Amino acid sequence: MLVIRDLSKTYANGVQALRNISLDIPNGMFGLLGPNGAGKSTLMRTIATLQDPDCGSIHLDDLDVLADKQAARQSLGYLPQEFGVYPKVTAEVMLDHFAMLKGVVDAKERKALVEALLRQVNLWEKRYYKLGTFSGGMRRRFGIAQALIGTPRLIIVDEPTAGLDPEERNRFLNLLAEVGEKVVVILSTHIVDDVTDLCPRMAIIAQGQLRLVGEPREAIRSLDGRVWRKSISKDELAACREQLNVLSTRLVAGQPVVHVLSDASPGEGFAAVPPNLEDVYFGELRRAAAPIAQAA
Ligand code: ADP
Repeated sequence: MLVIRDLSKTYANGVQALRNISLDIPNGMFGLLGPNGAGKSTLMRTIATLQDPDCGSIHLDDLDVLADKQAARQSLGYLPQEFGVYPKVTAEVMLDHFAMLKGVVDAKERKALVEALLRQVNLWEKRYYKLGTFSGGMRRRFGIAQALIGTPRLIIVDEPTAGLDPEERNRFLNLLAEVGEKVVVILSTHIVDDVTDLCPRMAIIAQGQLRLVGEPREAIRSLDGRVWRKSISKDELAACREQLNVLSTRLVAGQPVVHVLSDASPGEGFAAVPPNLEDVYFGELRRAAAPIAQAA
């Protein structure tokens, strides 16, 4: 279990990236969902011991992560947003090198480990390929292989599915879910479907603050009967946004379709629809953006 308490961070330019974050993350896949600039990477980098918070604590079971960074790094697998690799090096050689850096000094043990990892992420057949020839999905899977060296107790994956085609994305997420059965996996993303498909628990973060922590299913259930859908003309859109609590607008065959949050029917032509995680997410973002209007 990863236990985060009262974590805050203000950058030198005055941006408050984390505001008093407290969060318990058990084994399994945990989705950290938030828009760009919400503070996700700051939180991920802090947990990964790559930067210090101004205050607060992080414990992984009995390990004090911020006080004992060396030990924390031994227990941690980190797949950053931009995972740089040497394009001319083969997958096998690169992974062997990473394993060496992580302290697997015995050559025989390292060889076996590299093979096991490449098989696990389905890249064994590609072991002699240079990393520069890998697709985005293959690079991400290679990233997971390197993050798994040393059997970490905590794996951090920052924005992993951006730019992947649907098949690559599926493959990658299935792999993560498999890995996530035994350890804590934090998946930071701004893509709601990544969380819906995979994560039994989640948090929504906006402007450095946690807005919601819990199970996606429960959060969705809390909106039951309160999400309404209507197909409207483009001319009506501005008025609709002004008068109603619009969660999202989507073009369907060129025509705007709005989702509105309301305890009763917002008006003629609206039909109640089963809520989804996107409704939960946009609802929280709206509340984060307009706390005063909401309170009134
Ligand atoms: P996310 O990963 O959710 O997009 P970040 O943690 O990258 O969010 O950023 C949170 C806020 O902190 C943003 O406003 C961003 O501009 C700011 N920020 C991030 N890194 C730095 C930095 N090194 N110096 C100053 N501001 C930063």
